[in-house]
Amino acid sequence: MFESLSDRLSDVFGRLTKKGALTDSDVSEAMREVRLALLEADVALPVVKDFVAAVKEKAIGQDVVRSVTPGQMVIKIVHDHLVEVLGGTDSPDLDLNAAPPVPIMMVGLQGSGKTTTTGKIAYRLTHRDKKKVLMASLDTRRPAAQEQLKVLGEQAGVATLPIIAGQNPVDIARRALTAARLQGYDVVILDTAGRLHIDEALMQEIEAVKRETNPHEVMLVADSLTGQDAVTVAKQFHDRIGLTGIALTRVDGDGRGGAALSMRAVTGVPLKLMGLGEKLDALEVFHADRIANRILGMGDIVTLVEKAAETIDQQEAEKMAAKLAKGTFDLDDLAQQLRQMRKMGGMQGMLAMLPGVAKVKDQLAKANLDDRHIKRQEAIISSMTPKERKNPQIIQAKRKIRIAKGSGTSVQEVNKLLKQHQQMADMMKRMAKLGKKGMMRGGLG
Ligand code: GDP
Repeated sequence: MFESLSDRLSDVFGRLTKKGALTDSDVSEAMREVRLALLEADVALPVVKDFVAAVKEKAIGQDVVRSVTPGQMVIKIVHDHLVEVLGGTDSPDLDLNAAPPVPIMMVGLQGSGKTTTTGKIAYRLTHRDKKKVLMASLDTRRPAAQEQLKVLGEQAGVATLPIIAGQNPVDIARRALTAARLQGYDVVILDTAGRLHIDEALMQEIEAVKRETNPHEVMLVADSLTGQDAVTVAKQFHDRIGLTGIALTRVDGDGRGGAALSMRAVTGVPLKLMGLGEKLDALEVFHADRIANRILGMGDIVTLVEKAAETIDQQEAEKMAAKLAKGTFDLDDLAQQLRQMRKMGGMQGMLAMLPGVAKVKDQLAKANLDDRHIKRQEAIISSMTPKERKNPQIIQAKRKIRIAKGSGTSVQEVNKLLKQHQQMADMMKRMAKLGKKGMMRGGLG
């Protein structure tokens, strides 16, 4: 997501930073282009108008601080406004600050990712925060819905309320809360029914559940790929039910970003979480500043580092970082890196967070680094001796034949891997450098 917007804005700001001094008309011209870029990204018109007007006012009245270029100033102003529009620097996570069992109600249209997000939240609270979580599906309309949640619960290692046929949503919700109270659960997540469109019956049902359970969080799950429609839906839900937060799904998709950028401004409800894939761990807190950085093409080293810390053993990560900094990167490291990349949501997920993405992405596409390929590469590496992995240069013809046989691949593929290792080692070095630069630059675009 945000890719084309990010490209457009990089273009605009690239031109701006090249100039030594900026005239009012330079700023106006740039803002015209920003406006177009936002509209193309499907950002709601009033949001675009406010955005451009506010930035312009600040940019034109601004004293230019020495040591930054006027172009950088403008980027900084745009960045700060972007953060504001996306919800500010607070990055509110789910609020569980209440007497247990804390009820969380999930609402949203059918297909928005509501059940998946319910599972993701439960998974995170259970395994990361060590909470005792109970999930209950209140969807009595779609026959398989309660089953779906049960299966998800089994995958996530999270308890689900036993299904009793014929109960209505309010009864199920009441039963869930009672069970949670009696059995000492910390959190109860209620997955309400969805519809293809908002209708009166649905709203009444959700209202009734809300009255019964008095949820501490009412989370709307909204599909970012549906752009401004998602915003309209959010507004309707908020006006009627009262939301406490929004989880935006499919942020890993190629949505243009309009939903994310308009949601907060139009509804006033904070974006709290975002879904970045189908897997249970593909959920993150919505950090406005990081998203703004991503949109402005600064990449998102912080998220990457955090995520890496969650996925990777910390000591291993430090060892790896030291190696990268020194520029030593052997085939064991490559194997480990490949494994971690797969864990972190595959190459695409990880790349989206890195600066200078476009270039690296092309390289990887050329190198054919998809998941299937990664697995073959891992097989090749595991057919090598420890000595070979440490010193790839000793792998000559005879060894290559042995390795190819051992891994069920060809010498050609072994050669390719060795070459790729070299490229990766170079790339890692570059990324490490970029990463440092990105972090030192701090808030300034
Ligand atoms: P519900 O009808 O709102 O409960 O929707 P589901 O939870 O059943 O999700 C519908 C589909 O969207 C499923 O195939 C999910 O795997 C997928 N999905 C949900 N969230 C995400 C996300 O953040 N990214 C991606 N790529 N797919 C998602």
